[in-house]
Amino acid sequence: MKRYEDTYRHKGLRQQLIDTLKEKGITNEVVLDAINNIPRHFFLDSAFDKIAYEDRAFPIGEDQTISQPYTVAYQTQLLDIKKNDKVLEIGTGSVYQATVLAHLGARVFTIERQKKLFDNNKNFVFKSKYPNLKFFFGDGFQGLPTYGPFDKVIITAAAPFIPPKLIEQLKTGGYMVIPVDEGETQRMLRLTKKADGTYTEEKFEQFSFVPMLTGKNV
Ligand code: SAH
Repeated sequence: MKRYEDTYRHKGLRQQLIDTLKEKGITNEVVLDAINNIPRHFFLDSAFDKIAYEDRAFPIGEDQTISQPYTVAYQTQLLDIKKNDKVLEIGTGSVYQATVLAHLGARVFTIERQKKLFDNNKNFVFKSKYPNLKFFFGDGFQGLPTYGPFDKVIITAAAPFIPPKLIEQLKTGGYMVIPVDEGETQRMLRLTKKADGTYTEEKFEQFSFVPMLTGKNV
């Protein structure tokens, strides 16, 4: 059974991480404050306790990773979360990114395709703190048609293409933040949905994500 303890040492390391994120160009204070408030080491195996605040991705089982804090901060900043925004996340993984979104007051709907990772959500440590965070088992390429449309959509795995069903489930004026490409690295895109159903595209930095895969893995 994991012990959840947020010590002064953890808090100090978290503050150092915030300084690193600022140096790397993250400017949104609300996003930085959320990261400063969420104990990332709670989302990792205790073997990673000492290194949990390095700006790195770490394994979380099933060949998957918790995203690097810089990536989480970057995607969250691009989403420009407003309180009560309805947000769809593809790739729950460790639940860290979803927790950052919930902390910012979004109504978060997060989907995971790996049954084992999804089952871990039963023990989510902040279940009562964030009733605005809901977990789904399924294939992110399908989205959640019955819960949409969404103000924002975030994809936290490398998408081979822009999933049409996720565009359909986005509100007019809504943002999708998505790393696209099948190569070694992916370009971060922010799409803005137009009233005619098409979208405009802004291009950002290159990142490296685990692949977005089709179907469920039970
Ligand atoms: N947001 C996560 C990042 C996890 S890595 C975090 O903060 O920890 C990406 C996750 O996307 C993995 O857990 C992977 O299983 C999941 N994934 C990949 N393709 C998917 C799909 N089509 N639908 C849902 N989840 C998917």
